[in-house]
Amino acid sequence: MPLIGHRSPMHLLLLLLFWCSGFQTASGPATQSQITVQCAPPVVRRVPIDPSRTHSGSPTTHPNEAAITLQLDCRVKLDGEILSKSQRPDGQWQITARVVGGRIELALEDVIYLPMNATLPLRIHEEGHREINERLYRAKAEAIALRAATQTVARDLTNSAADPDAALGEAITEAEKQIRQRTQRTFVEQAQHIADRFDRITNHGQRDVDPREAIDWAFQEN
Ligand SMILES: [Zn+2]
Repeated sequence: MPLIGHRSPMHLLLLLLFWCSGFQTASGPATQSQITVQCAPPVVRRVPIDPSRTHSGSPTTHPNEAAITLQLDCRVKLDGEILSKSQRPDGQWQITARVVGGRIELALEDVIYLPMNATLPLRIHEEGHREINERLYRAKAEAIALRAATQTVARDLTNSAADPDAALGEAITEAEKQIRQRTQRTFVEQAQHIADRFDRITNHGQRDVDPREAIDWAFQEN
């Protein structure tokens, strides 16, 4: 996934990483409403940067620059069942299948990189970005994931492989990947838009404006 960021006296960098342990389990009939979403509490790490040294692992490039990265971990496990199967002349099995249930687990981690001599307004500004990410996560992440799941499993899955179970497993893995990517992409896009508004309203923390009000405005602006 691409890195999304903006640069300024301080910059916001949204970093999207993910991993997924997708596998398929047997299950009885279910509806897509049986896909559940669980959100872990958001966590934050604060990394002090010595401005006199080059800091490996920090996304900042200038001594007095701060940054925040956002990582939305999304793990998807779906259950599927084969609706129909047929063996083709080449020996491959063609299947149609449907998702009968599943679980999505989300976790948000912000990492704030701050020079040790950061001014208070800069510290407050970066914490404002964190607050935006966490507020969006609490308010919208579950709905974003459910919408991604609904879009992905709305149609029956089709696939072919050496045997029906392998075809189903591949189809499920692909559906899990699509849900994961749609969830992460939508969340990051929304976080990026709000962060951009926040930076515009605050002039990247250099305008004398109440940070809490700036966050509220950033969420309200259309
Ligand atoms: Zn900013």
